[in-house]
This record gives sequence, structure tokens and C-alpha cells, in this order.
Amino acid sequence: MHIVVCAKQVPDTSEVRIDPETNTLIREGVPSIMNPYDAHAVEAAMVLKDKYGGSVTVISMGPPQSEEVLRKAISFGADRAVLVSDRAFGGSDTLATSYILSQAIKKLDQEEQVDLVICGKQAIDGDTAQVGPGIATRLEMPQLTYVMEIIDANPEEKKIKVARKLEGSKEILEAPLPALLTVVKDINDLRYASLPNMIKAARFDKAAVWGKNDFDDMDSEQLGLKGSPTAVRRIFPPPDRDEGEIIPGGMEEPEKAAAALVEKLVKQEIIADW
Ligand SMILES: Cc1cc2nc3c(=O)[nH]c(=O)nc-3n(C[C@H](O)[C@H](O)[C@H](O)COP(=O)(O)OP(=O)(O)OC[C@H]3O[C@@H](n4cnc5c(N)ncnc54)[C@H](O)[C@@H]3O)c2cc1C
Repeated sequence: MHIVVCAKQVPDTSEVRIDPETNTLIREGVPSIMNPYDAHAVEAAMVLKDKYGGSVTVISMGPPQSEEVLRKAISFGADRAVLVSDRAFGGSDTLATSYILSQAIKKLDQEEQVDLVICGKQAIDGDTAQVGPGIATRLEMPQLTYVMEIIDANPEEKKIKVARKLEGSKEILEAPLPALLTVVKDINDLRYASLPNMIKAARFDKAAVWGKNDFDDMDSEQLGLKGSPTAVRRIFPPPDRDEGEIIPGGMEEPEKAAAALVEKLVKQEIIADW
């Protein structure tokens, strides 16, 4: 089973700072890590490899320093790492990013048939959760998002069965392989890197780097700013919300609680008195 995992380098902070002039994230002084969901994606691939054999390839699109994410993936046990990097890819929005990553997966597929692609649910910086579904659409693969459990994956029968995390419940779905999954953190617990894998990561010299010219049919119009129809007008942290108020007694005396709520809404002229 050949599994490809997409892993993104993100700033290690929940304190997003934004440059108000340029409307971009301030990355200086902020250390980078592997997107946490992607670490779970790599682990999910390793669990499948342990069960069915095969190989795990991790790809990341980004500037040269994104190679650190690939080294991390190697320390988790990945077999191969590819950095997709070119100045022509800079400024890509999610449409262009999913195009470039899908081209890289096609190239890998030509070398060794890809059975499964695993992405994180979302990246903690961009936060759009669009790239996984974008790749699946371009590769015409079934997409199974918010996967919290891989119930069964059968490379012989070319089928996968998963549980998707829904609000307060789960959904069981089956799809033919090759397919693309996006995973949530519930899917597994991350294990510590084993000593042999840590040595492998320490010896990992350089990832293969694929630039625009390494692809036979990369459409220049779909790359970077040219291929990115998204225009960011303004980016800002959401304003702090006022503390909410809980009207007590809703379970015991719902009519009384509802009456208290109506009184408050009328007083604040949110609804009219009647
Ligand atoms: C107009 C515009 C210009 C931009 N310019 C830049 C820029 O110059 N530099 C820059 O860094 N960002 C730039 N961005 C942000 C960039 O579009 C997103 O970071 C990127 O498309 C991924 O989207 P996301 O972070 O929302 O990922 P999500 O869709 O939330 O990610 C979901 C999953 O997809 C996979 N994934 C996502 N991105 C990658 C990746 N790069 N490599 C491997 N796997 C990945 C991971 O598995 C991840 O868990 C720009 C955005 C816009 C709108």
C-alpha cells in the first residue's frame, strides 16, 4: 500500500499576530512546527503501513525551511520525503496549493501507484480546511473528511471504511481506493519516535526537491499569485466577546426561564413587547 501524506509547516503559536499594513501573518521570531493535524495524518499512515506493509511518502509545499517538517515525518517512520518548492509557487492560495500538491501526487503515482492520500483536517494558520478536498477533487478521488477512525482498509479489495466525526455522533462510510482522507486528532495518539527512526531522521540529509521544471505538464497560469483568485482585503483577530449571561432554571422551570429571557430581550429592544 503506497500512502502519501501532505504535511504543512506552520508557525508554533495560537497567538496569531498580523501585520496591519500588509495583512499577512508576522512569522519573524515565531518557531515553526509540523501542523498538528498532519502529525496525526503521518501516524495514521504508519499504523496502516504496520498492518498492510507498503510505503509512506510525505510531501510538503513551501520554502526550503519546510524541509524540517519532512525530517520530523522521517523520525515518525516515513520512508520518503518530497519538498515541493519553487519561487513560482509563492503567494499561492488554497486553489493553487491544491493544484500544485495534486500535480506532485500524480507524479508520485506515475512512479508507484498511490492507494491513499492523507491530509490533516486543517492547517492551524490558514485554517480553511480546503486543501484536502481541493486535492481530492482534482485527482477525482473520493474524499472522506473529519476521519476519526480507520475501521478497515483493504488494499486487496481496494476499499476503505472509516468513521467521520460529526457533532455529537459519528458517520460510518466506505469508499473505493484510491481515496483521500482528512483526519482529526481523535484518530490516534502520537507515539514517540523510535531510536532507529530518530537515527534515520538525523542521517536524513536532504529531501528530494521538486520545482516547477520537474513537472512535465504544470500549468503556469495555475501557480502562485497568478493562479490565486482569492483577494485578502483585511485580516484581523476577532474582537473579544462580552461575557454571556446564563438564565438559570431552564431545565426545571422552562416557562419561567423563557419569560425571564423575553423580558430581557424586550428591555434591550431586541424584540417588541406584546
Ligand atoms: C492571496 C493569498 C496569498 C497567499 N500567499 C501565501 C504565501 O505567499 N506564503 C504562504 O505560506 N501562504 C500564503 N497563503 C496561504 C496559503 O494559501 C495557505 O497557507 C495554503 O493554501 C494552505 O491553506 P490552509 O493553510 O488553509 O490549509 P488547510 O486547507 O486548512 O489544510 C488542510 C490540510 O492540507 C494539507 N496542506 C495544506 N497546505 C499544505 C502545504 N503547503 N503542503 C503540504 N500539505 C498542505 C495539510 O495536510 C493540511 O492539514 C496565501 C493565501 C492567499 C489567499
